Amino acid sequence: MKAALISSLLEQGCSPDFDEETNRKILVVNLFALVGIMLTSILGLRALLGQEYPLAGSLFIASIFFVLARQIQLVYNNTVGRLIAVNLLLGCLMGLMAYLVVSGGKNNTGPLWIYVVPPVAMFYAGVTRGLMTVGVFTLMISLLMFFPNDALLLTSYDQDFKIRLLLSFLTVTFLSAFYEYSRQKTFDTVQQLSEQFEQQALHDPLTRLPNRRGIQQQLTQELARLRRNGRPFSLILADIDHFKNINDNHGHSNGDEVLRRVSGIFQNRLRGLDMVARWGGEEFLIVAPETPESNAEALAEKIRTSLAETPIVLNGFPIKVTASFGVCEVSKDVELERALTLADKALYKSKQNGRNRVTCAAVTSE
Ligand code: GH3
Ligand code: MG
Ligand code: MG
Repeated sequence: MKAALISSLLEQGCSPDFDEETNRKILVVNLFALVGIMLTSILGLRALLGQEYPLAGSLFIASIFFVLARQIQLVYNNTVGRLIAVNLLLGCLMGLMAYLVVSGGKNNTGPLWIYVVPPVAMFYAGVTRGLMTVGVFTLMISLLMFFPNDALLLTSYDQDFKIRLLLSFLTVTFLSAFYEYSRQKTFDTVQQLSEQFEQQALHDPLTRLPNRRGIQQQLTQELARLRRNGRPFSLILADIDHFKNINDNHGHSNGDEVLRRVSGIFQNRLRGLDMVARWGGEEFLIVAPETPESNAEALAEKIRTSLAETPIVLNGFPIKVTASFGVCEVSKDVELERALTLADKALYKSKQNGRNRVTCAAVTSE
């Protein structure tokens, strides 16, 4: 129950519509703002009870700014809103830290809080901008601490304490930067891997053509276009003739090579927006956008002749490879699934009629 409340507070403003990195930034702002609100309120209350009014006042002001940063992020849940929230949070944090250094906070322990700055800055701004932010902060506190005669301090620190504070602060900065750098690298690698897997899942490794799942995206796009402008698109199914014989006579790996060459010939013959996919074993699907059946028939005929006239040379021997084609258009009247069935039937007709030919679905339905 408590865990659910905490996670809902932390994830407030996150959305499945945002990318992972944006959601992480929202979560980090929520986390630091909530921790900041809690700490500054508690410490502010203690300072108030101890009658340390300036300290209590600064802590409460910081607390209000943390609340404000979180609210800005929630209300303006966009890039600008998030940028303002992050800068407000960082600015407020650095201001509070500077005040703690100047005043010494409780019994001169105030400066110990400055270690919060590097991880927060890296989380928000990444390595480069984070380092720049911390650089500015380092210059600021160095100036405050090392100004001659402690003129900028309301308290005084031992010289060794100041030097060690600065050195340990720089160490924490370096470690935080390194940690953020590794995190970003890992994130990039994971993203690359996920894109690679996605690519593999949608493509056939042998021919590098989209596979059945890969062409689905194109089909969905064409259906949307058809709904918008009513212009039909066409499907051309192609199946290599007597491919089993090629495998039997030349071996399976030469069969694979034939598949690669055929897919190359198909691709060379296509027009700009046309797309070809490996639909099955030795079967290919060509999608011809905004093309009625008669034009698709002419395209199929061009591809058929090109394949039949291009001998495929295997181990120095040219072999003649042909394919049979079935064409069907998808229109307002013929939906996709039906067009695929009709194209398949037309292809079957091409096979029946002697192979190495093109048949249109319109002919088979007559
Ligand atoms: P048809 O003219 O009637 O289409 O005859 P076919 O021999 O081409 O048709 P069939 O369906 O009998 O045989 C298809 C063959 O394609 C059988 C299968 O082993 C082969 N095949 C399917 N996928 C691959 C592949 O990735 N590589 C190779 N080398 N062969 C494949
Ligand atoms: Mg087949
Ligand atoms: Mg075949």
